Amino acid sequence: MQIKKKLPQNVNLLAVSKGFSSQEIKIINNQGQNDFGESRFQEAINKQQLLKDFKNMKWHFIGRVQSNKIRKIVQNFEYIHSVDSYEKLSKISNVSLEEQKKPLIMLQVKLSDDPSKGGFNSQVLLEKWDQIKEFKSIEIKGLMTINPKGLSSKENIKLFKKCRILADSLKLHDCSMGMSGDWEEAVEAGSTWLRLGSIIFGNRSY
Ligand SMILES: *Cc1c(COP(=O)(O)O)cnc(C)c1O
Repeated sequence: MQIKKKLPQNVNLLAVSKGFSSQEIKIINNQGQNDFGESRFQEAINKQQLLKDFKNMKWHFIGRVQSNKIRKIVQNFEYIHSVDSYEKLSKISNVSLEEQKKPLIMLQVKLSDDPSKGGFNSQVLLEKWDQIKEFKSIEIKGLMTINPKGLSSKENIKLFKKCRILADSLKLHDCSMGMSGDWEEAVEAGSTWLRLGSIIFGNRSY
């Protein structure tokens, strides 16, 4: 957890624990880290069950949100970083009302043409923003983005800044951006949540 000392105070650290065991999560939690991110639903639920006595742990869902999992995601995660469409956001809002939950939401935005990544197109997000703001029982905290692999440092900064500017224009505080390979650029561009896996836990087997 050396990395924590290097970060500016307004930058939060999400420890991405996918691929690592509940035992390994406990070790990191012991070092003062409470926020954990998981991208595979069933894997996450299994670990949460094993770790249910650790009340200070906060769980963030960062994987693709499948519509048929929305209720369980709302029941089990405080944050959802990866809401990638208006339809899913609408469903999350309806389900949250029924469940009497208020998840903290990041809207995933697609800022490059990477076909492997989903997310809101920025134009669509701006057009729908007035409707989005009306959704009940959710709190939209910010935007999330994943940069394509293999970009130069400069290109990474440029894309991350697009996310920051879009968030600012919507008066959103948070930008969930920056992974183990590009976190420094993300900090420079104004990230407020770094999602770091391998830097914290080591290399994953997948
Ligand atoms: C796995 C994952 C991360 C962390 O990746 P590292 O390169 O190990 O830091 C961050 N965000 C998402 C959405 C992920 O799936």
